[in-house]
Amino acid sequence: MEKIFCANCANCILIRQYESEPERYVLRVKCTKKQWVKRSGEEKFYKYFTVARRIMDECEYYEENGELFPYIKNLRKELPIKDEIYSTKG
Ligand code: SF4
Repeated sequence: MEKIFCANCANCILIRQYESEPERYVLRVKCTKKQWVKRSGEEKFYKYFTVARRIMDECEYYEENGELFPYIKNLRKELPIKDEIYSTKG
């Protein structure tokens, strides 16, 4: 069966997570259906640059955003290669 790429699902959204300084943030992805959970049961957010690796064997909530290819290929090219810190200033 074809794998499901969360990056191509309408329930996978990008959020800003503010760190200690109010104007600095990192990007995280979140599953609005709360399908990503830690062992403790707590909701898990993933670093944005890893989003193309979020693959499910199956998911009842998958809502395809559009054609998977070349979207996922382009996304892989555009993603940052590591966790970046952004600033709301300038
Ligand atoms: S609903 Fe399923 S396919 Fe969509 S982002 Fe969440 S876990 Fe991934």
